[in-house]
Amino acid sequence: MQQANKLALIGLGLCVVFTTFAIAPRPKKRKTHNDRKHARKLARMAKKIRRHFRRFRGGDWTRGPGRSERYQSVRSYMRSRPTRPLGRRRVIYVLPLGRFTQGQTKVVKLTAKLLGLYFSRPVKMHKPLPLSVIPSRARRKHPTWGDKQILSRYVLYKVLKPRMPRDAAAFIALTSSDLWPGRGWNFVFGEADLNQRVGVWSIYRNGNPDKSPKDFRSCLLHTVKVASHELGHIFSVPHCKAYECNMCGSNSRTESDARPLALCPQCFQKICWATQCQPLLRYKKLHQFCKTHGLQADAKLYKKILRSLQPHKHPPKRR
Ligand SMILES: [Zn+2]
Ligand SMILES: [Zn+2]
Repeated sequence: MQQANKLALIGLGLCVVFTTFAIAPRPKKRKTHNDRKHARKLARMAKKIRRHFRRFRGGDWTRGPGRSERYQSVRSYMRSRPTRPLGRRRVIYVLPLGRFTQGQTKVVKLTAKLLGLYFSRPVKMHKPLPLSVIPSRARRKHPTWGDKQILSRYVLYKVLKPRMPRDAAAFIALTSSDLWPGRGWNFVFGEADLNQRVGVWSIYRNGNPDKSPKDFRSCLLHTVKVASHELGHIFSVPHCKAYECNMCGSNSRTESDARPLALCPQCFQKICWATQCQPLLRYKKLHQFCKTHGLQADAKLYKKILRSLQPHKHPPKRR
């Protein structure tokens, strides 16, 4: 029973945060001619890759916290004046918070790298901060399990917000400590304020990356999935209800593990349009990243996507 409660809170941690802050006023911005041209190009590419994704069939999340969330089309996303990491605010900042083992340090660095490729933005590492920046009033020991935890909202508003760099599209902290969001909660994997463009994600529950290469890959995959999913929310992309994709809402780790790291044809259009990225180059880099770091299933999917997007090479005709 306790385990069931625990799992439900994981999903709530991921989903409630988004719905709380999603309705933020956006500055008015006119779409340019290039934006429309880019959108048409992305739509053509999306048609070519959709066969690699399974249609969204719902699950625990749609029966639970995601029941009332509405589907958003690509067109309505583009019309909604989403937060786009363009102009002066185009850098993703990552702040390591707390002490990390060798394996965890590597996971943090690779996650920062992945975020740069996923959102086609420069990523800068902020100077690491020790856990001593968190005062005792924002710490606790879990009353049942005894895990030491820090208050996620303190990190958002007292650690990140005052240090927000001027050119930051988003400022995120990755911490080795367990997080809890306040009274009545057991823990959360992460929390973000979409309006303030800050987020904190914990790798505490992502396994021990120093144990074995398999555990390292598992920790890396969980960390990059959560970080890219939540950063997608910061750039105004809601939960996906079109295909099984990284932007789908999850009510448990099992549910999120079943989804690929890749964005479906619809979420791909939203993110690539918001970031004005070069889609083919993005896919090539993501494929290379997954291949290099042993994320085999995702490397395979990116390879299939690339094959569908690249022009067919016909063998020379025999005479
Ligand atoms: Zn979410
Ligand atoms: Zn999607």
